[in-house]
Amino acid sequence: MSEMKPSLYDYTQKELIEQIKPAFRVKQIYGWLYHHYAENFEDMKNIPKALKEELSEKFIVNPLSIVNKEESSDGTIKYLLQMQDGKTMEAVWLKMKDQQIDESGNVYQEAKYTICVSTQVGCKVGCTFCLTAKGGFTRDLSAGEIVAQVVTLKRDNNHKYDRKINIVYMGMGEPLDNLNNVAQAIKVFKEEDGLSIGGKRQTVSTSGLSTKIDKLGEMDLGVHIAISLHAVDDELRSELIPMNKAHNINSIIEAVKRFPIDTRKRVMFEYLVIKDKNDDIGSAKKLVKLLSDIKAKVNLIYFNPYPGTPYDRPTRADMVAFQDYLLKHGLLCTIRDSKGIDISAACGQLKEKTQGEI
Ligand code: SAH
Ligand code: SF4
Repeated sequence: MSEMKPSLYDYTQKELIEQIKPAFRVKQIYGWLYHHYAENFEDMKNIPKALKEELSEKFIVNPLSIVNKEESSDGTIKYLLQMQDGKTMEAVWLKMKDQQIDESGNVYQEAKYTICVSTQVGCKVGCTFCLTAKGGFTRDLSAGEIVAQVVTLKRDNNHKYDRKINIVYMGMGEPLDNLNNVAQAIKVFKEEDGLSIGGKRQTVSTSGLSTKIDKLGEMDLGVHIAISLHAVDDELRSELIPMNKAHNINSIIEAVKRFPIDTRKRVMFEYLVIKDKNDDIGSAKKLVKLLSDIKAKVNLIYFNPYPGTPYDRPTRADMVAFQDYLLKHGLLCTIRDSKGIDISAACGQLKEKTQGEI
């Protein structure tokens, strides 16, 4: 791999001030990066040429380029993005409908957007239902490569810097297996002179590295966590997520209980529903019990099949029956509508289609 220069998107404003003088130029540069989504030094009109030349010796601006893009009829756009070393990963632009109430009390729908970012090329966890896992692990993404996914998608959708956006760390890779870079990206997103995306708008999804859940909690970044639970007993969970042997269900539940969350909020548990594996009422019953002393919310996800997978998508009737059981027993539960079902929706599918292999 050729030596890669760091990107300006790798750093908080303070870290750039330590490296670039005079400090007021950093504030201007930050404006170019996050308010104008600058792609290169030429874009930065009011920065002296000499400084730009000096900076370009040490840094690059935008570390990403768009290689492929698929748009779904529901407004979901899936991007295949390439990095400096030629490696690719995916980010997704999701359009959510949100009910708002105006001053006269009328209910209206407003579009809300969420960006799903990748944190690694490939993944070490090796879940048997996940396409990203099939190609093994290639490398961690840098903080700048995570940050630039959001900048790239906002730029491509003409989404102004001060328009609200939510970030979910649910793309390719296990965020807690790249905790330092993910934590740095979280901090950069929070920068007030940058995109100013607070911790409450960022959700880190994990397959359950319990010791790292504790570490993320100790960092006190104010982010939400989502736990990819998927099974209620360790035998099935270890079949689906092999590292469950080292981080079993009980260790995850205990780590969640220690995690600092806003007391008004709930921890999200994702439950991937696979036909004839975990879609029965017996599992729903165990799930209620398992989460009984946690302020939890369950998100049921339809398994999204891809060529070669041994698993099947559950029926809608089973999905609804599962949800009904949870709701009747006091557990908040939503069914995730399969966004972008007509495009390559499951993690890793666009990459696989474009390159033929991961
Ligand atoms: N590694 C993290 C975050 C990325 S995966 C994690 O596992 O939580 C994001 C979500 O996509 C996870 O909940 C995962 O279970 C889900 N997912 C993976 N493969 C899927 C598939 N084929 N169909 C539906 N959801 C899938
Ligand atoms: Fe990795 Fe998440 Fe896929 Fe599991 S589901 S292999 S943890 S990306």
